[in-house]
Amino acid sequence: MQLNYIANASIPSSSGRTIAVLDPSDGQPFEHIQRSNASDIDSAVRAARQGLDTVWHKFSAVERGRLLMRLSQKITEHAQELSQIEQRDCGKPTRQANADALALARYFEFYSGACDKLHGETIPYLDGYSVLTWREPHGVTGHIIPWNYPMQIFGRSVGGALAAGNTCVVKPAEDACLSLIRVAQLAAEVGFPAGVLNIVTGYGHEVGDALARHPGIDHISFTGSPSVGTLIQQAAALRHCPVTLELGGKSPQIVFADADLDAAVPAILNGIVQNAGQTCSAGSRLLVEQSIYEPLLARLGAEFENLRVGPADMDLDLGPLIRQSQQQRVWDFLSDAQVAGIPMVAQGRVVDEAPQSGFYQAPTLLRDVPFDHRLAQEEVFGPVLCAMPFKDEDQAVTLANSTEFGLVAGVWTRDGARQFRMARRIRSGQIFINNYGAGGGVELPFGGVKSSGYGREKGFEALLGFTTLKTVAIRHG
Ligand code: NAP
Ligand code: MG
Repeated sequence: MQLNYIANASIPSSSGRTIAVLDPSDGQPFEHIQRSNASDIDSAVRAARQGLDTVWHKFSAVERGRLLMRLSQKITEHAQELSQIEQRDCGKPTRQANADALALARYFEFYSGACDKLHGETIPYLDGYSVLTWREPHGVTGHIIPWNYPMQIFGRSVGGALAAGNTCVVKPAEDACLSLIRVAQLAAEVGFPAGVLNIVTGYGHEVGDALARHPGIDHISFTGSPSVGTLIQQAAALRHCPVTLELGGKSPQIVFADADLDAAVPAILNGIVQNAGQTCSAGSRLLVEQSIYEPLLARLGAEFENLRVGPADMDLDLGPLIRQSQQQRVWDFLSDAQVAGIPMVAQGRVVDEAPQSGFYQAPTLLRDVPFDHRLAQEEVFGPVLCAMPFKDEDQAVTLANSTEFGLVAGVWTRDGARQFRMARRIRSGQIFINNYGAGGGVELPFGGVKSSGYGREKGFEALLGFTTLKTVAIRHG
């Protein structure tokens, strides 16, 4: 039985109710978490406020940095354990779970070094005045984390918030709590004071909603679906609470005829297969210049047919999806494709060892997807790649910008001037040219435009979002 983690103590929910945790690889329950409610959120927010006011605000930037570094090292020591937790809880293949644990350690390493590099300014003003700015923490920050990359999104969001001097109340997705509860325990072990990092589990419409509404929360970071993003903004707007939103995407991979296909093909494949396509930055639309459309689809089709899906511990190309409703969501999209007569190029295979009760989905490559079909417009959040041809650069830009989202775009071309033109014309938070998100990008600011959200996490930029600027004007004559 897993408990909430509030003020460095493991605490049951005041409701006494729990939620069964399923292993996506076999669909069977193996653990329970707390089904918390608004009063548990209230306890966590009070603990966070107390931690801030009594202890945390006295930590200098360099002391915060050292503590974050100790946590990074502790996470590295426990990477294997965290990875195993994540494989069971989220169905992640071993390599992906390992990568997530190491990325979490890397976030805390990056933000440990950033704490004492966050400076204000002095501003020339009237004679007899001195003006300076301070970057101050918001206070108590709320973090609503999705289930697709719990450790990575916790790292980028909570890492930045703690570095900037906030205390945190975290609500993980109910399908992906276990690794984060463990990280909070590790944080206490390395010396984080009580109340600085609190975890409350439960359903989004119960505890997530209570967190968004709580008057003691000074800033909310939310990653998840656009519809819940709207609810968070509405709740926050009632008390003018600032929000950072990362709401996913329908990101295009744009391949011109002069592209280096040996570099592009593995990146295109990984961009949709990684984490079984449950990635906000998944490259889920493939836009291909007409003259290489057929040969590229033939090549990618052969790659798709070789992909294998199975239980997390088999460490194949893909693990299961997170839960049955997500599997149903992908099935619904694929049956819509069939009804619309959208041709399938190729599909991977679920291995025989995969239990029937697991949430598996074979990766699927579709072609000639009309740009206005929901498969080309909506986030599937599964391993489904939708290909469509374009005739020239203008049409590539029009198609790239033709969804409500604007998170990431991949551009594959050897033409240097075109690289810049495309980067300018595509409306998106990130543009990757001749690569697609290689290296994890902990240092790189990340976020969206349009319905992909606003605000930036990751990189140094995140620290600006997790602080508020105070201007101090002194008249000294
Ligand atoms: P979701 O409902 O938006 O979940 C994201 C987070 O918000 C979870 O922690 C969730 O908690 C919480 N939440 C849900 N309802 C809430 C509410 N009324 N108030 C406050 N918090 C709330 O996403 P989902 O239903 O899990 O997935 C649906 C679709 O969202 C996916 O198919 C995908 O398209 C998209 N998605 C995008 C991302 C991304 O990285 N951008 C991540 C996840 C999902 P519970 O899960 O515990 O209810
Ligand atoms: Mg789970």
